[in-house]
Amino acid sequence: MMKQSIVYMFHAIGSDNELLGSDPHYSFSLDKFEQFIRQCGGCGSLKDSISGGADKNIITFDDGHISNFKAAQIIKDTNGGTADFFINPNTVSTPNFLSWSQLQEMNGMGMSIQSHSLDHLYLSDMTMDEQRRQLEVSKKTIEDKLGLEVTILAPPGGRFNKDTIQLCHELGYKHLSVSEPGKWSSSYISKRVAVYQNTDVEELLGCNKILSPYLISQILKYRITGIAKSVFGNRSYDLIRSKILGGSL
Ligand SMILES: [Zn+2]
Repeated sequence: MMKQSIVYMFHAIGSDNELLGSDPHYSFSLDKFEQFIRQCGGCGSLKDSISGGADKNIITFDDGHISNFKAAQIIKDTNGGTADFFINPNTVSTPNFLSWSQLQEMNGMGMSIQSHSLDHLYLSDMTMDEQRRQLEVSKKTIEDKLGLEVTILAPPGGRFNKDTIQLCHELGYKHLSVSEPGKWSSSYISKRVAVYQNTDVEELLGCNKILSPYLISQILKYRITGIAKSVFGNRSYDLIRSKILGGSL
């Protein structure tokens, strides 16, 4: 059987005023993050895993929140590991987000810096040309600013369609990382496990087991909300979600 990995999807790391500009629902405390990195037995990036053997634990961060700089240091200092950071060039160096110089430093630490599109808008709501711009300009901007190759796209909100996959191939993305929960072995699209504010470290560590209650509940939840998205459309779905969860978007 092909080796399976868990691709974890983190956002901001920290608490209270460290979380400005992020969705608190998706944040994870610094204590819990340090504990997880210490206990996970090593971690790697999708970037390394798609070119070599898959790591058991793959760590990714979406949105480029400023707290991700500290997270990168923890990963490097604790187990010498690495991770992927999906960023939006149009929010880089704005308040509460990583700056280009921090990203350059993270690149020097061995971190993988990748595209989360240009503006953090839903790709599935766009025309082909608009999507092309989001994918092409974000890739080129990161490459020009940091002098590295962008090989992975994570669509904002996990929303993508057939056009996205076609454009990824056309524009030289070697991999697409989405928000559907599940394990990943070697396919072009990786599913991920979302980490929430109330997630326990034990739940994350248990994801590698054959039957992980945390992963199973995410898959069930995704199926239910997936139906909600197709019935209500992205915008009204987000309004309903924010009313239920009280989080920002
Ligand atoms: Zn995002």
